[in-house]
Amino acid sequence: MAVNKEAYLQLITELKSRNVGLVAVSKTKTVQDILELYELGQKDFGENYVQELLEKQKQLPDDIRWHFIGHLQRNKVKFLVPFIHLIHGVDNFRLLDEIDHQAKKAGHLVHCLLQVHIAVEATKFGFSPEESVQLSETIQKYRQMKKYENIRIRGLMGMSSFSENEDLIRSEFGKLTLLFNDMNAKLSDLKMDTLSMGMSNDYKIAVEEGSTLVRIGSMLFGARV
Ligand SMILES: *Cc1c(COP(=O)(O)O)cnc(C)c1O
Repeated sequence: MAVNKEAYLQLITELKSRNVGLVAVSKTKTVQDILELYELGQKDFGENYVQELLEKQKQLPDDIRWHFIGHLQRNKVKFLVPFIHLIHGVDNFRLLDEIDHQAKKAGHLVHCLLQVHIAVEATKFGFSPEESVQLSETIQKYRQMKKYENIRIRGLMGMSSFSENEDLIRSEFGKLTLLFNDMNAKLSDLKMDTLSMGMSNDYKIAVEEGSTLVRIGSMLFGARV
């Protein structure tokens, strides 16, 4: 399946006019596919699997900004730290501890988003709604203990329910935006600026609800097998 350049150019114009960033999700796609979008000016690409990301990163231009959008295991953190632009799916504090530890060892500041579970499905990763209520306080406490000095928490990430129900999707994204605004007020010194929500099927709703960064794969690269 070929890269849909027309869809890309239209999408990027639409997103730019609203000041929304685009992560082109290239999981399962080839380095040639990635290069086709890169040559049109796309610099941000997202991958879900560490091994696949490392393979591609070696072969592609150094100025690509790699986003890790999958579920990250603690024993893989050290492989990403040297080059990753943004880790989207941080969903527990032990993982944040490990990122901080590896970032310190490598002498890097690693940028992260906290993933919050907003969907009705039980299978999706993320801090639960109950945990989310406490997120600001917990982060505040850890930072007072001088934890996370090698991490920059840039914002939140979430995935809506797999559903045709637009009202449900809208309300889930809306909740994430409310949480983001609330955390930004409570942790104002963090100056969080990134709300990663929206995929091929729901990005329009996500943008209307306040997304600053969408993660789009199949619309650009064709369906995955
Ligand atoms: C695969 C994936 C996407 C992109 O999904 P599409 O429906 O292909 O746009 C976005 N975010 C995450 C976390 C993904 O795993």
